[in-house]
Amino acid sequence: MAIENAILEEIKHYQTIIIHRHQHPDPDAVGAQLGLREILRASFPDKTILAVGKHYAGFDWLGQADTDVTDDQYENALVIVVDTANQPRVDDDRWHTGKAVVKIDHHPNDDAFGDLQWVLDQASSTSEMLYDFYAANANELTLPQEAARLFYAGIVGDTGRFMYPATSAHTMAVAGQLMATGFSASDVNQAEDEVSPAMARLSAYVYQNLNILPSGAAYLKLSDADLEPFELGETDSTSAVVPLPGKITTVVAWAFFVEAKDHTYRIRLRSKGPSINGLAKNHGGGGHALASGATAHDQAEIDQVIHELDALVAQDKGE
Ligand code: AMP
Repeated sequence: MAIENAILEEIKHYQTIIIHRHQHPDPDAVGAQLGLREILRASFPDKTILAVGKHYAGFDWLGQADTDVTDDQYENALVIVVDTANQPRVDDDRWHTGKAVVKIDHHPNDDAFGDLQWVLDQASSTSEMLYDFYAANANELTLPQEAARLFYAGIVGDTGRFMYPATSAHTMAVAGQLMATGFSASDVNQAEDEVSPAMARLSAYVYQNLNILPSGAAYLKLSDADLEPFELGETDSTSAVVPLPGKITTVVAWAFFVEAKDHTYRIRLRSKGPSINGLAKNHGGGGHALASGATAHDQAEIDQVIHELDALVAQDKGE
């Protein structure tokens, strides 16, 4: 039995299904999670279908998780974890207290978990995979327009508006199928493209202050002190500026170091060519070949990451 069908069979065995996503969500994590909730609610009106995770007002235009999920509800529940490669990154620790776990993800499967796993690291997004899950079971599942809108938002988010190399002919075909349900794709595109005035000013700062090395490696540190003058709002996230260096012709791969609450630095790595997930793993993180993350504990580690990134890009150029 194909895995898409096996997952549906598993779902049928449970009265309660609770869907988790990763911490610090992006449109694919939220879109995949809430889109799957829409499909399962429409297809199984007698089941209890729930989604959990910390609330971020910036994603209210996509929808919200359920805030009233009790510990007891996990007792006989099937937990589905979407878009999350590593167990510590699952939002809401209760995910492992369910009866069984299904992992659905498109990141490299560095941390294999779950009783059933469907991991396709070539897929553009988990949202694309979940449309395929629907399509493989279309005789038994319903795809509400709202689910299509959510999956489309997830695909748009993770492909950088269909720009990144993981965008395949299949991705475009899926986007077309989703659009055919009739939601406004341009409203979604607009919502994902717009930034607040504060973020626009931060974007200018990024371009003004980005350090571009001769190799094509680039980096920028954003400490609390650097960010303070921008007065970022509750719905602003530095994630919106992470793709910006990629627009510069001479930049090949880049790193942002963003100060976290505990004063470590969240490393956000991106590349147009050479794989940077090995570098992320060297520093306790991981991710995709062209988009990874990790943590730097002090300035020495930041300097080390810059050095490794510079060497990696220089080596890639030499080949
Ligand atoms: P981000 O820069 O946070 O958007 O992360 C880009 C990608 O890197 C994500 O899709 C994650 O798969 C991965 N990633 C980010 N941070 C970590 C981490 N600390 N550990 C493992 N993977 C990470």
